[in-house]
Amino acid sequence: MVEEVSPNIYRIEIPLPRSPLKALNAFVLRSRDRFLLVDTGWNKEECLSAMLAGLDELEVDLNRTDIVITHLHADHSGLVGELVRKNTKVYLGEVDASIALFVQERAEERLQDLCRAYLSHGFPEPELRKAMENHPGFRYGLSVSIDFSAVKDGDIIHFGNDSLTCIATPGHSPGHMCLYDPRKKILLSGDHILFDITPNITRWPEMENPLQYYLSSLRKVYGLEVSLVLPGHRSIMKDHRNRISELIAHHEKRLEEALCALEHGEKTAWDVAPHLSWDVTFRSWDLFPPAQKWFALGETIAHLRYLVSRGDSAVREYKGRTLFSRR
Ligand SMILES: [Zn+2]
Repeated sequence: MVEEVSPNIYRIEIPLPRSPLKALNAFVLRSRDRFLLVDTGWNKEECLSAMLAGLDELEVDLNRTDIVITHLHADHSGLVGELVRKNTKVYLGEVDASIALFVQERAEERLQDLCRAYLSHGFPEPELRKAMENHPGFRYGLSVSIDFSAVKDGDIIHFGNDSLTCIATPGHSPGHMCLYDPRKKILLSGDHILFDITPNITRWPEMENPLQYYLSSLRKVYGLEVSLVLPGHRSIMKDHRNRISELIAHHEKRLEEALCALEHGEKTAWDVAPHLSWDVTFRSWDLFPPAQKWFALGETIAHLRYLVSRGDSAVREYKGRTLFSRR
């Protein structure tokens, strides 16, 4: 499905089958003699055919197109290998670009590290294996190595007569970038600000305190003058400030819930996770599919680490487990 969301800016809806995200918003920006494509979808047949149909409808010539990936998650970056041509520039935030390179070169090492961390936070091994098998990030990620053009905060991406400013917004991923057009007051927010769902904030080896990064990136974007927000998933909206306030309140509530869960002694993140309120349809924690438990555990770890940094909680390693307690 293709629609013009603003003059010369188009959304191509890329389906994400069997994902609670439902679809990815890919945006095409048209300028005098160039196109800019923002985000791509998974490396999966259904995504590729939707993308090619959309590009065809918009008469986009991939030989005159550059690509920006707001962050390295597979639903945004996975398909890029199918869309690059000889001279395509593929922009990605510098931290995510270095992680992408690391993953390409040392995938097994990164996977082992991830497993060790999740086991220490209490994820049961058989369920962990299932979660990894079904994880879209491992199934539908980039299959070719891409020579990314790394961008940093304040960099300007030019295409044709137009340009966008890169706004570093670490939190959802360490190198997440929003793109901003100060003239038109348009913000391409990637997964930094979503309206119908809450961006997942999870554990990353590159960020000791991901929630703190996320909250300060929200405050940073709050100051921008914005009249249209184009997010990575679901609805396009106008009022970013109201949503930012809601997102901050959402995390404050979860922090309170996590702190309450620590009231009766030490717990792993796995023990704390069922005490947080999750925006899902499953009636109880036990009914969550392993992949959803994976996302929920990551989110719980991020909240617990924030509590530790704020001095509300303590953490220690004991017999291979990471234990949190109330201070
Ligand atoms: Zn996404």
